[in-house]
Amino acid sequence: MIEFLSLKDVNAAHAVELKAACARVIDSGWYIQGKELEQFETDFAAACGSKYCFGVANGLDALTLTLRAWKILGKLSVGDEVIVPANTYIASVLAITENGLTPILVEPDESLNISPALIKAAIGPKTKAIIPVHLYGQLADMPAIMNIAKDHGLLVLEDSAQSHGASFDGKKAGSWGDAAGFSFYPGKNLGALGDAGAITTNDDELAQVVKVLRNYGSHEKYKNIYQGVNSRLDEIQAAMLTVKLKYLSEDIKSRRKIAELYMRGIKNDLIRLPLDMGVSPLTLESHVWHLFVVRSDKRDALQKHLAASGVQTLIHYPIPPHKQQAYKDWNSLSFPITEKIHDQVLSLPIGPTMSVEDAATVISACNSFNGNG
Ligand SMILES: *Cc1c(COP(=O)(O)O)cnc(C)c1O
Repeated sequence: MIEFLSLKDVNAAHAVELKAACARVIDSGWYIQGKELEQFETDFAAACGSKYCFGVANGLDALTLTLRAWKILGKLSVGDEVIVPANTYIASVLAITENGLTPILVEPDESLNISPALIKAAIGPKTKAIIPVHLYGQLADMPAIMNIAKDHGLLVLEDSAQSHGASFDGKKAGSWGDAAGFSFYPGKNLGALGDAGAITTNDDELAQVVKVLRNYGSHEKYKNIYQGVNSRLDEIQAAMLTVKLKYLSEDIKSRRKIAELYMRGIKNDLIRLPLDMGVSPLTLESHVWHLFVVRSDKRDALQKHLAASGVQTLIHYPIPPHKQQAYKDWNSLSFPITEKIHDQVLSLPIGPTMSVEDAATVISACNSFNGNG
């Protein structure tokens, strides 16, 4: 069986270093808000080309706390509208509703990322921010989105949970918007060995607030300037991430190699490849292939056929946020492009440790699909 992603293999590749880093933290006697966190924050800010990085407990908190900080700074108020893709992982939307803000769901274009033209059409008097998501590892059209934001005075919070290291024109994910939220969930391109996340920004004011907000709103021990939360990135996870960050560019190269094999090798009229979906050869260079997503009108049959051929696949995602029970008031809303995408997408195995032989097996299994599961 070719696994979708073997986390065991991913971390085994760096086991000696990870275990040494873990031992270092254990022996240090310091487990929260220490040198390991500082080191990772410095390294990750540099890797993103942003002035600040603040570790938090997970990717959802990174998004939620940034919006919350903007409320504290008077840049957002309850009831303001925030534009977000209709086809995203639910976390992007939860961060908005958790803050009492109103999500405005916007459909994607053929790239499967949010459509700049439709963002423009969705802007109203209450619109205050945009959360573009760099879905599957491909940057959203940030030049266009930043222009729209500038014209309309909107804040931009990049959901960069799937796009560590992705860049366009030499500018990295996490350094385009006013701020960005990252997730280091184990399966992400930069994954901890547990939960972790981070906020990046160039904004001094925002930096001051999120730094404190994540730690009970406390700027000095036992003094609290905000009603904060406990959303800290602990020393062990920070140490794991510092090790793994060193290999991120190498890992991206390995993912690209698999993606290129797939794009050259998969030839089946029943399967649409990313290149056919508006991923231009140019943006291909910036894609970090967190997921390799194909589309098919016969998706379910394709998934069955691949499983029978020993290839594990996943669907990102089977149900869009507006069709979730969690948002039952929206269930009757219609986002036809998003709904169609959710019926068609299938994620093939891809990862930094995947072999060329395994990719060849996936390719021949795709090519032998004749429409029957
Ligand atoms: C993973 C993910 C998140 C949330 O990250 P967690 O660390 O699991 O909280 C947010 N947005 C997107 C697009 C993601 O893929």
